[in-house]
Amino acid sequence: MCGIAGIFSHKPVAAELYDSIIHLQHRGQDAAGIMTYDDRMHKEKGVGLAKEIFNNENMKLLTGNIGISHNRYPTHGGFSHGEVQPFWTSVPYGIALAHNGNLTNYKELASEVIKTETRYLNTTSDSEVLLHLFADGLHRDVPPQTNEEFFELLCEAVENIFNKVRGAYSVTSIIIGKGLVVFRDPQGIRPLVKGQRPNGNGGKDYIFASENTMFYAMGYEPAGTVLPGELIYVDESGQVFSKRLIKKTFNPCIFEYVYFARPDATLNDVSVYRARLRMGQNLAEAWQKKHPDKTPDIVIPAPSTANTAALSFAHELGVRYSEGLYKNTFIGRTFIMPGQAERKKSVKYKLVPQELEIRDKKVMIMDDSIVRGNTSREIVRMLKDFGANEVYFAVACPPVKSPCFYGVDMPTRGELIAGNMNVDEIKSYLNVDALLYQKIDDLAEAVTRRGDHHIDRPCMACLDGNYVVNDIDGAKMDEMETMRVNDRNGND
Ligand code: SF4
Repeated sequence: MCGIAGIFSHKPVAAELYDSIIHLQHRGQDAAGIMTYDDRMHKEKGVGLAKEIFNNENMKLLTGNIGISHNRYPTHGGFSHGEVQPFWTSVPYGIALAHNGNLTNYKELASEVIKTETRYLNTTSDSEVLLHLFADGLHRDVPPQTNEEFFELLCEAVENIFNKVRGAYSVTSIIIGKGLVVFRDPQGIRPLVKGQRPNGNGGKDYIFASENTMFYAMGYEPAGTVLPGELIYVDESGQVFSKRLIKKTFNPCIFEYVYFARPDATLNDVSVYRARLRMGQNLAEAWQKKHPDKTPDIVIPAPSTANTAALSFAHELGVRYSEGLYKNTFIGRTFIMPGQAERKKSVKYKLVPQELEIRDKKVMIMDDSIVRGNTSREIVRMLKDFGANEVYFAVACPPVKSPCFYGVDMPTRGELIAGNMNVDEIKSYLNVDALLYQKIDDLAEAVTRRGDHHIDRPCMACLDGNYVVNDIDGAKMDEMETMRVNDRNGND
C-alpha cells in the first residue's frame, strides 16, 4: 500500500507535495519521494517518514510548478533506498512515474522490458517496469507536434499498458515539456481522486491523489474520482485532456474502507467515515440476531481504525462506547511493521487498557479486521487481566482468508489466521466468550449503500478468494507469495 499525488499548479509545488505526503503518511511510512520539473527533473527521496527525509535545504532544490510524490510501503521490491519512488528515465522526453498497486505479471513484463525493449532494470520494483513500458509506448522517431497529438500518443501508450499489465495500478507521472499525466487500472482497484482550485488568473490548479485528505488544507475542491481505465493529461498551459480508454467492471478495494484510508477521505465517491458507520450498523443488527442474550455493558474499539464502526455499533445496541484502550499514536500501526517479532512486542507498548472502563464489565471489543490474530489475542488477554467479566469480539470485516496481490501488504496464506482456522477455532484461540464477523454481503452493502458512486462490486479477493482481474491461480499464488517472502528477506 502506498500513497501517491500529482499536482499541476501556477506556483511552485514542492511544499504542497510535501504536505500531500504528510496527509498520506498513514498509507506508507517506509520511504517517500518527490519529483518536480521545470527545465529539468529535480528529485529528493529517502527512507523513513517525510519529516525525516525533507528539510529546508533539499526542498529548495525541488523547483517547478508540476510534480509528483510517493509514500512507500512496499508490496513488491525490496526495502532499500534504490527502490524508493518516483522512478524516472531520461528517454524519451524525461519521464518520472509514481505508482500505487501491484503488478501480478511482473516477471513476464520484466523479461519483456529487458529482452524486447533492451532496457536496463535497476531494481526489482514493478513500478520501474511500468515506467519503462510507459516510456517505450511514448517513444517515436518523429515526436508529435501538438499537445492534441501528444494526447493521442498517450492514449495509445496507456491502452497498451491496459492490455498488457495485470494487477492493480494507479499512476501519476510527469513528462518534461509536456505536463502531468495520471491513469488508473481498468478495474479501478487502487484509489485515485481528483481536485481543483482557481489559480487567480482565470485558470485552475489540479491535484490527483490516493485520498482527498489534503484537499481542504491546500484549498482544493474535490472533483470526484479518476475513473477505472481513465487517462487524464494536464498540459503545461493547464488544458485538460481525458478519456476512458477501456470499460470493465469497477471493483475498488474494500479494504480501503475497512482499514487503510483515513476516515475523512472520500474514495470512489463514497465517504470512508460513513461506510465505517454503516459497517457498525450492519454488524450490530447481526449481533442482536445471533446473540440476543449477550448485550455488552460497554463497546471498546481496538483503536483507532475501528473507532467509527464501534461508535455506530454501540449506538445501535444502546450501550456505552468507551475508549477503554488508549493508543500511543507515536508507535506505528502494527499491520505495517515488517516482521512478526516486532509486531508481538509492540501491542503492549501501543495499547494501554483503562481499568475503570473494564473491570467487572461485559466488554465488547471491536476491531476492523483480524489478520494474523496475534494482536487480537493480546488485546483479549489485556482485557481479562484488567478484570473484564466477559469479553465479546466483533469484527467489521469478514475473515481474511487469502493474501492480497493488488497492492496491500498482506501476510501469506500460512500466516492468516482465517486461512488456517474456522470461526469456532478462532474464538477458542482468542479466548473470547463470543465472536462475530461481518458477513461479506453486509460489508459490501455498507460501502455501496450511499454515495453517488459507480462501483459494480468492490474487490474482496482477500475475503472471498475472487481475484477480480482473473489473474491468480494456484501457481501464480505460489509465485507471488515466494516473491513477497524473498522481498521481505532481502533475497533476489
Ligand atoms: Fe483490497 Fe483485499 Fe482486493 Fe487486496 S484483495 S485489493 S486488500 S479487497
